[in-house]
Amino acid sequence: MTGEPLISLDGVEVHFEESQGLLEFGDPDVVKAVDGVSLDIEENDVVALVGESGCGKTTLGKTTIGLQRPTGGSVRYRGQDIWDAKDGNGDVAIPYDEIRRSLQIIHQDPGSALNPNRRVMKILEDPLKRWQSGMSTGDRRREILSMLERVGMTPPADYAGRYPHQLSGGEQQRVALVRALLMDPDMILADEAISALDVSLRVEMMDLLLELQDQFDTSFVFVSHDLSNARYLASHAGGRIGVMYLGQLVEIGPAEEIVTDPKHPYTKVLRWATPDLHTGTDAAEPPVRTIDIPDPQNPPRGCRFHTRCPDAREACRRAHPDSVGAGTDHEVACFREVDDHEYWSSTPLTETDDSADGTAPAQSPTTD
Ligand code: SF4
Repeated sequence: MTGEPLISLDGVEVHFEESQGLLEFGDPDVVKAVDGVSLDIEENDVVALVGESGCGKTTLGKTTIGLQRPTGGSVRYRGQDIWDAKDGNGDVAIPYDEIRRSLQIIHQDPGSALNPNRRVMKILEDPLKRWQSGMSTGDRRREILSMLERVGMTPPADYAGRYPHQLSGGEQQRVALVRALLMDPDMILADEAISALDVSLRVEMMDLLLELQDQFDTSFVFVSHDLSNARYLASHAGGRIGVMYLGQLVEIGPAEEIVTDPKHPYTKVLRWATPDLHTGTDAAEPPVRTIDIPDPQNPPRGCRFHTRCPDAREACRRAHPDSVGAGTDHEVACFREVDDHEYWSSTPLTETDDSADGTAPAQSPTTD
C-alpha cells in the first residue's frame, strides 16, 4: 500500500436518524451531518476545517480518525479501510489497534477528557502501558517527564504529581496533547482545541502545535469555527483550509489563497464574518441574500447555499455543483467556476424564489 495517502476519504456520508419523540409516528428525520465528502490527507499535512455551527466539521474530523463510522463511502488509512479492519472484513493489512494508535484526538474541553481522580503521571502512563507494554516503568516515566518538559510544563515532576483540577485550562490542554503524542501518532485531530482558552493563550497554543507538528512529523486536522485561527495554523504549516457548509466541503485549498482570494460565495461570507481578516474592500453588509441558515434536516435542493448565495441563479436550484479542480491543490464546488455552464444563461434568483424550497430559518449568522 505504498504511495497511498495517509488518510483517504471517498464519498463519505454520515447521516443520523433523529427520533421524533414517543408519540410521533412515521419515518425518523435524517440529518445529513456529512454528505459526500472526498478528501486526501498526506503525511505531515495540515488541514483546517472551518464553517458555521452544525456544518459537520467535527463529525467529519471524527470520521477522518475513525471515531465516527460513516453511513456511506469509505475511510482508508494507508490504503486500509478503517471499518473493514475493525470488523475483520476481507484481508486486513493493518490491524485496527494499530490504526487507533496512529490517529489521535485532542478535544475542545480537556478538563472533561482527563480523569479527575488521577494524577497527570498516571493519566499519561495508562495509554503507554497499553501500546508499549515492553517499556520498563523507569523508561515510561522518563519519557513522560521529557514530553511534559517539551510542551513547556516545567518542572515536569511537579506537574506529573498534580490532578487535572490543579492545572489551568492551557495546562490541561498540554497534558491532552502529550497523551496524544506519546502514542507516536501519524495524525492528530484538534477539535476546537483552542477555543476554550483565553484569547491571550490561543496564539501560544497554536505556536506549540506548529512546533510539535514539525518536530514529530505529525499530520493535523484542525477543526475551528474561526477562520482567523485556521489561517494562522494552516498558513504557518503550509497547509490547507477546507470550508464546510451543511455537511459538504464547498472549497479547499492553500490557506492564504482561501483567505485572500476565496472563490466560493460562502467562503466570502466566512471571511466577511471574521473582522480580523477584513480588507479595505469588504462591504458593510454581509455578502448573503438572507442571513438565516437552512434547517440541516431539510437542506435546500440543488446547491445547498443557493438560498443565501448572492450569486444564485435558477440553475443552482436544479442541480448540485460538483467540485471543480479535482487533482489540483484548490477545489471549489460552484457553477461559477465552469466557464460554459448553463448557470451563466439562467435567471438570477430573487428573495421570493427561496420560498419554494421549503427551507426553514434555523439560526442567526455566526461562525460559532
Ligand atoms: Fe452560489 Fe450557485 Fe455557486 Fe451555489 S452554485 S455557490 S448558489 S453561484
